[in-house]
Amino acid sequence: MSKNKNTGTCALCEKTNIQLRASHLIPKLAYTRTRTTKKSRFRAMNDIKQPLQDGEKKYLLCDNCEEFFSGFETQFANKFLDNFLKSKKLNKKCFKESWFQNYVLSVAWRIMYDDLYNAGSFTDESCRSVFEEYENSVRKYFNTLINNLPQTVPSCTHYIYKVDEIVSEANIIKLLEPSLFGYCYFDGEYHLPIVISYYLGLVFVTVFHDANLIFIDTPKKAFKRKYCLSKIIREITCKEIKEEAIQMATMYRENMTPDLQEKINKYYNKL
Ligand SMILES: [Zn+2]
Repeated sequence: MSKNKNTGTCALCEKTNIQLRASHLIPKLAYTRTRTTKKSRFRAMNDIKQPLQDGEKKYLLCDNCEEFFSGFETQFANKFLDNFLKSKKLNKKCFKESWFQNYVLSVAWRIMYDDLYNAGSFTDESCRSVFEEYENSVRKYFNTLINNLPQTVPSCTHYIYKVDEIVSEANIIKLLEPSLFGYCYFDGEYHLPIVISYYLGLVFVTVFHDANLIFIDTPKKAFKRKYCLSKIIREITCKEIKEEAIQMATMYRENMTPDLQEKINKYYNKL
């Protein structure tokens, strides 16, 4: 890897001309725990080939910011994830803990940042400015947290599901089993900016909402969105995850070659 490629501007603290660390959008803890399955596959956004080859590594953050996020990751792995993988039960008490909320938000932010500024998603779509606004508010929040300044917590809610809670089809669950993915999308029906990620049988959904945003709504939809958000999110996540599983399996079949499989195996051995 050339030296230039490792030096740049940190996406979080925005320090310039700084050494950047290669890291995963979805933390390494998820990859290392997924690799026990025979055929793992990753996907970010719309191109399956690239993430399959490099395990979705990006030069995004400086050492300090990586360390800051890895604090949440360690707590998430030790206090929640490993217990879940053993028991298959969600310890919902963790959901309210600040380390848990910060972990989920940090992954959502990385996905959102990458989608907006590396993948260039939502160009010419009105929802791009909505995502930009939220990306900015999350970045500010983490910077104030790093610098011990008064914080404004971004207006968002996290929903965490076991995949078999929201999807009943066994074939879909099986398709998802060896996968990891994360991306942003805008739900056109309820006008909600959403970041979704999946790994290890868990679905993480971050929904951004803000009273100041103006939505063009029918009164019925506005009412439903305000009072039944958790029900709506469950419904749209179920639909989204099924579509994604089918799309991903199709792409995987079309792109996977023995050569590529070999590269993936080598990559895993290096982790
Ligand atoms: Zn930084």
